[in-house]
Amino acid sequence: MNILVLNCGSSTVKFQIISTDLEMISQNADRRLARGSIERIGGEAIVSFQTETGEKQLSTATLRDTRAAVELILRWATSPAGAEQIESVADIHAVGHRVVHGGEHFTHSVTIDDKVLRAIEDCIELAPLHNPTNIKGVLAAREVFGSGLPQVAVFDTAFHQTLPEQAFLYAIPYQLYRRYRIRRYGFHGTSHRYVAYRYRQLKNITREQTNIITIHLGNGCSIAAIRDGNSQDTSMGLTPLEGLVMGTRSGDIDPAIVDFISVKEGLSSREVETLLNKQSGLLGISGLTNDMRELLAEEHENSDRRAHLAIEVFCYRARKYIGAFLAAIGGAEAVIFTGGIGENSPEIRSRICSGLEWLGLELDPNRNSTGEQRFEGMISKDDGRLAAYVIPTDEELLIARDTVRCVKGVTQRY
Ligand code: ADP
Repeated sequence: MNILVLNCGSSTVKFQIISTDLEMISQNADRRLARGSIERIGGEAIVSFQTETGEKQLSTATLRDTRAAVELILRWATSPAGAEQIESVADIHAVGHRVVHGGEHFTHSVTIDDKVLRAIEDCIELAPLHNPTNIKGVLAAREVFGSGLPQVAVFDTAFHQTLPEQAFLYAIPYQLYRRYRIRRYGFHGTSHRYVAYRYRQLKNITREQTNIITIHLGNGCSIAAIRDGNSQDTSMGLTPLEGLVMGTRSGDIDPAIVDFISVKEGLSSREVETLLNKQSGLLGISGLTNDMRELLAEEHENSDRRAHLAIEVFCYRARKYIGAFLAAIGGAEAVIFTGGIGENSPEIRSRICSGLEWLGLELDPNRNSTGEQRFEGMISKDDGRLAAYVIPTDEELLIARDTVRCVKGVTQRY
């Protein structure tokens, strides 16, 4: 089956076309036929398409909305310069969507019908920025491909629905949870789940034997504690603002700071929330950028004090969470790094792990600094009590596979 994987944001659409089926999944032989992104939808959009061979095609196009973007993707994919195997609309067999918030309703990926769409709408309150754009993506694909084409929703929150009450409840009046479902949901679930799956494959162990800490460090950052194959705790909360220090998000802060800033700076609580989401984290501390590569360069080349501070706060928070989550689940056998920073920065991995030797975690400098592109494997010394790995994430692949499984009616095990 050829699956179009869509990740629809407010003014961007990212996509991949992946050829896969149950046989190819079992052999790990899925094929990526095309990928790309369309940014700044609503005006002169920046379009980037890439075929299976990796050849990039850049252009611009005036695109009014998500539907116009999906139409453009289809037109390109079926053109001679487009994706192999895709000659007409009939060669797309299903669409898989990344959906940010599934609330408590969705514990697994599901085929989208009107009832599912309504349930995703019910979660808008919990993710006012993301779910409406995800729904727009579903409706756009329905218009472009027709309502007969199966569409599947894969939720960022679903993997963390196994969290026990003690981990997901906030210590606020219980009726607020009952009334508004205020609780920890966690995000990046598809990434944590994919990395846990790859680890099982690398180690040739079962789901039930999987006891690990997974750390996704990208622009958004989160960490998950996985015991017996299930997510037991995670750092993001009701929204993706909680937990680790991120590119522009503060992560954990004292909640009283919100009112304090509001009074001192004359901002509404909504404006303070925006400040914590968009002007904080690495960008906020450094005053320079949210880009870890640039911060590392500033630190090395110009000894910039605030770039150094931002990186130190980032690494310290990650180290603190590793310790907390190890305690929470009674230890683990490996810590796994993924995401743009986790996959590509030996220095950050090393700075996060330094001081954890007492736990039996010691990185092997040669393994940690392998220059290999998309390296996957162990980066700690052989005989440590706690191992460390790098496993590149692949959320799109998991979305494509879940789409196939939903369409074929095969029960997915998370
Ligand atoms: P997103 O969360 O938007 O998907 P990514 O997972 O691509 O983002 O992560 C982006 C982050 O990864 C940026 O901070 C970028 O600087 C960082 N990054 C990418 N490559 C490197 C590298 N070689 N060294 C350090 N940081 C890197």
